[in-house]
Amino acid sequence: MAPRVDPVTSDTEIPARTSVVVVGGGIIGTSTAFFLARKGIPVVLCEKGHIAGEQSSRNWGWARKMGRDPREIPLAIEALKLWPQMNELTGAETGFRQCGIVYLCKTPDDMAKREAWLEEARPYQLDTRMLTRDELTNVLPGLTGEWLGGLYTASDGRGEPQKAAPAIATAAQKHGATVLQQCAVRGVETQAGRVSGVVTEKGRIACDSVVLAGGVWSRLFCGNLDLRLPQLKVMSSVMRTEPFNPGLETSCSGFGFGVRKRLDGGYNVASWSGNLHDIVPDTFRFFSEFLPSLKLQWRNLRLRVGGKFLEDWQVPRHWALDASSPFERVRTLDPEPYQPILDQARTNLTAAFPAFREMKIAETWGGVIDVTPDGVPVISAVDSVPGFFIATGFTGHGFGIGPGAGRLMAEIVAGETPVVDPTPFRFTRFSDGSRPLPSPLV
Ligand SMILES: Cc1cc2nc3c(=O)[nH]c(=O)nc-3n(C[C@H](O)[C@H](O)[C@H](O)COP(=O)(O)OP(=O)(O)OC[C@H]3O[C@@H](n4cnc5c(N)ncnc54)[C@H](O)[C@@H]3O)c2cc1C
Repeated sequence: MAPRVDPVTSDTEIPARTSVVVVGGGIIGTSTAFFLARKGIPVVLCEKGHIAGEQSSRNWGWARKMGRDPREIPLAIEALKLWPQMNELTGAETGFRQCGIVYLCKTPDDMAKREAWLEEARPYQLDTRMLTRDELTNVLPGLTGEWLGGLYTASDGRGEPQKAAPAIATAAQKHGATVLQQCAVRGVETQAGRVSGVVTEKGRIACDSVVLAGGVWSRLFCGNLDLRLPQLKVMSSVMRTEPFNPGLETSCSGFGFGVRKRLDGGYNVASWSGNLHDIVPDTFRFFSEFLPSLKLQWRNLRLRVGGKFLEDWQVPRHWALDASSPFERVRTLDPEPYQPILDQARTNLTAAFPAFREMKIAETWGGVIDVTPDGVPVISAVDSVPGFFIATGFTGHGFGIGPGAGRLMAEIVAGETPVVDPTPFRFTRFSDGSRPLPSPLV
């Protein structure tokens, strides 16, 4: 079942020409369009389904610096500076609340891993600290069970995935952006090697630049331009409770569960340990690149062999722009959630917080996450196709850094000094022999 997302009113006119076309209306595409439009740059945002229909409405809603790959911490810091301003910047409710986040530790090994991360993150002077068992009870009232301690960041928070990207898209419109839904971009046109426009299912738009923020579809889109973007898909499941009051404000994850309070008084409950990867042809194409990250996380990932292999095999890898493209065939990716893992999450959560035994599940959903081999996104110009930019591969943490990533992408497109050094996010890292360090996939 797809979660209900705040609606956005599409513009009706398709401009014949603009400066930038953004492909994809998730948190990344909407934030990029918003920050471009605020600079007075003409921008058209095209979404094949509805705004935030895929990952950006289906995620847990955590916005964190904690636990992030050190390459990404500066961007996460900028994003967490932006989040508290987003309601004012958009004139709407994005749901951000600075609630703090805790990673619970059950074993000495868990403690050692968290302490090691804290050491790595020390140069960034975050407010993250280790909590003792007694301190845990102050931050997480009602916690029971044998926990050794936890890692805690008071300044991290939560946003509302079903509200944030729609609010940002509507705000982009107020700054002059055009937002088109049910409008798949079939591909990019070039003249003398550089971007000259896009072909959408509703017609052609001439433009100077294209930003691809297509989530799990980005690899396919790039393929038609003969660009190799190593990207795989991982399916994750979530449940939402009815509003109730177990007294938990701080988001936390522990042994086989994650929980965060929602603005509507309910909770999102899930588990990172139950992510599914369907074996598809790309699994083999990218196997060697993903292997180091897979090794880091094989316990948390289930591999599934089934009909998806054939389904993916049949998707064309190249197509002409004057006929229907693969993007028009699936308006919104809406996978079945994996119930056994949700049942496990429920058992683990209620063992840790007995007050959750009263929870009533209102809905469940699945979401497909786009992952890169090093767990870090691509936010980059593509040098071989001048005018083409990519912001994708957010590997399970793009919601929290979304506004920061959108701002960074807009600055790169505008040719301004970027808010953080974008070098770790360059597209060429997969092909220039630099062998970026692996990071857990989601
Ligand atoms: C279950 C789950 C839990 C998660 N939890 C968290 C969390 O707690 N915190 C966090 O920070 N992150 C989390 N994430 C990850 C986060 O949701 C993503 O990283 C983020 O939403 C990615 O945003 P996006 O805009 O890149 O992609 P998406 O939201 O997937 O948007 C891409 C959009 O592009 C559109 N599109 C693609 N191709 C075309 C085309 N050719 N033409 C037009 N439109 C096109 C698609 O329809 C889609 O709407 C989670 C993800 C899932 C699924």
